[in-house]
Amino acid sequence: QRERAETPAAVAYFSPEFGLTEALPQYSGGLGVLAGDHLKAGSDLGVPLVGIGLLYREGYGHQVLDASGWQNERFRPLDPAAVGLHRVEGVEVRLDLAGQELAAGVWRAAVGRVPLYLLDTSAVDNPPALGPVTDRLYGGDMEHRLRQEILLGIGGMRALRAVGEPAEVFHTNEGHAGFLGLERIRELVTEGLAFTAAVEAVRASTVFTTHTPVPAGIDRFPRELMERYFGAFAAAVGVSFDQLMAIGHAPDEPPDAPFNMAVMGLRLAGHANGVSRLHGAVSRRVFHGLWPETPEAEIPIGAVTNGVHAPTWTPAPMDSLLRRHVGPAWADANGEGWSGVEGISDAELWAVRVTGREALVQAVRHRLVAAARRRGAAEPALAEARSALAPEALTIGFARRVAEYKRAGLLLSQPDRLRRLLLDPARPLQLVFAGKAHPADRQGKAIIQELTRFTEDPAVRARLAFLEDYDMGLARALYRGADVWLNTPRRPLEACGTSGMKATLNGALNCSIRDGWWDECAAEGNGWSIPSAESVTDLVERDRLEADALFQILEQEVVPQFYERDAAGIPHRWTAMMRTALRTLGPRILAARMVKDYVDEAYLPAARRARAVAAEGHAVARRLGEWKARVAGAWPAVAVLEVTAPPASVPQGQSAPVQARVRLGALDPAEVVVELVQGPLAPDGGWEASEPPAVPMAWRAGPDEAGLHRYEGPFRATGPGRHGYTVRVRGHHPDLLHPHEIGCCAWAAGAP
Ligand SMILES: *Cc1c(COP(=O)(O)O)cnc(C)c1O
Repeated sequence: QRERAETPAAVAYFSPEFGLTEALPQYSGGLGVLAGDHLKAGSDLGVPLVGIGLLYREGYGHQVLDASGWQNERFRPLDPAAVGLHRVEGVEVRLDLAGQELAAGVWRAAVGRVPLYLLDTSAVDNPPALGPVTDRLYGGDMEHRLRQEILLGIGGMRALRAVGEPAEVFHTNEGHAGFLGLERIRELVTEGLAFTAAVEAVRASTVFTTHTPVPAGIDRFPRELMERYFGAFAAAVGVSFDQLMAIGHAPDEPPDAPFNMAVMGLRLAGHANGVSRLHGAVSRRVFHGLWPETPEAEIPIGAVTNGVHAPTWTPAPMDSLLRRHVGPAWADANGEGWSGVEGISDAELWAVRVTGREALVQAVRHRLVAAARRRGAAEPALAEARSALAPEALTIGFARRVAEYKRAGLLLSQPDRLRRLLLDPARPLQLVFAGKAHPADRQGKAIIQELTRFTEDPAVRARLAFLEDYDMGLARALYRGADVWLNTPRRPLEACGTSGMKATLNGALNCSIRDGWWDECAAEGNGWSIPSAESVTDLVERDRLEADALFQILEQEVVPQFYERDAAGIPHRWTAMMRTALRTLGPRILAARMVKDYVDEAYLPAARRARAVAAEGHAVARRLGEWKARVAGAWPAVAVLEVTAPPASVPQGQSAPVQARVRLGALDPAEVVVELVQGPLAPDGGWEASEPPAVPMAWRAGPDEAGLHRYEGPFRATGPGRHGYTVRVRGHHPDLLHPHEIGCCAWAAGAP
């Protein structure tokens, strides 16, 4: 009952792409498919989500390979009405784009019970000079991208208001939609709030999910461009343009540094997360610069591991097995429920594999014939396409956005070894590839060309296929038919990866680098982990080592286990692994689990927080905004000046007092906490633990004539060996959402 009262009226979920179905090509890859799965699972669970995005009239390019294997893109104009979108009558959003007015119409799609609103600038009249803003997903230059993001964030907020959705929590899926925070600041300043208070009110109710572990993957806009588009905005909310730019800057960046959308995402969101545990840790490292004095482990970025929408990605035969053995609500089952898969027989599991693989081989042949016809191929080539692959052969699937770090060509790096596997007469292996490169990514296109060239080698082409135009439909066919799903990113560059989760639901076994989701989900007997050689800095050498390790796994484990059959032709060791994979991975890989995690860890706390902060004329937001500004201003004077040593040796289990003298400048002791950070030391003199505990020290006296306060706390030897300690002081306010959000932290000199 209490929960219900705290449930937000609606959670607005902003995303630059949504992958709902292949009929609506409004996604480029995992980010969009995840957004689609999030809305679908939200609908299943009754979470009051509202999706906000753009309607790209030409969507994302369809991939067409020319005779040389080079990727070209075809764009097919979309007819919104034909794919089930409805124009929201009477709603038109208007916004300023560097002095010109842009208008957009709004379409509505129903994702089950969840509405999705898509803004479309071609649905209404606009000045020709503005060009088609919502033409293509990730098309055009940087200015085009900025215009799209302004429309998504600012226009999206206005659309949300115009259609009357009562959003209380705002979730931004990656940085692209981050301008929604600026629009909300503008709304609040218009209502009379100071800028600093508006920032606090926005933070309270905003959730930001980062999806990339590489700084190069983040949108950054040059100051000049920002000034043209946001100069008037800064004036309207009463700050200087430098102050506005600072929202997109780390503390050490100069005002002319590019505006970083992920930095804004973190500054304007009180709840931030990466998309797997490993990615959470990587994000804390990547964004450490925003909280330079805070230990990495305490940076306020958490993790919610992605999941996939069960009904979208589970084929009927597997669904019926899971219904019978886990229960009708298997998509929402816990670990105990999933133990029901132990009751599925080897023969039943194997039947799913056999029929799935046969269907894939048929689909591959069909697609290869169609592609050959399109290229004007002659009869011998068509005949070959009609008999490509073998329905009984061990099938490895590899399909993803073709980006360099995903290393689609890793297996091709040892061609002779690969040929031996493919051409083994008794135990053949076959490979099916698919993947699009970003239209502007020539390096990615070169990888595709290399792959297709290899698949055309007459000696091996009966065992290899590259399928054009990877989309959700093709993805489903591939997951269904693959015995093994291969994933070879350079760790830790795959933030999560979801295709392996979808393959799992089809009964495939993962063979993956321990990156993203697989790092936390890999366990004995539920798939194969390819050791990664991260410590090797020479990338060529590293790739060679990892390719070697992959081949060893294939040669020594995957192939022998697949072909080890009983009299009925069933590979019992293999089906046992399938069972273990389903039992151990099932409870962790579904979007229902993910959405529930967001509800518990982000949406409910944000809704509670938003109400608390907004109460009594935004009293908390005002208080906190003023306090943060004052403490940040006073912080340069704060220092831990003297720390007294306890006796050289403290017996294990006992404690000795440590005293510190701390300069607080203009701050009051109530506005800080002074902490004794202590723990065992490693041989190199650093901390043994990544997060040594910090215990508060008690204020004893002060300020003395030198303006210093005296603090005291117990140093405790918790175990044998050398222990160390240091003292830190950090800004503290009871209304803070996270102890380190303000980033004001000062350490005693000479800390370990
Ligand atoms: C699931 C999916 C992806 C994402 O897969 P990754 O494992 O993250 O590379 C990309 N494209 C399509 C069409 C998908 O269905």
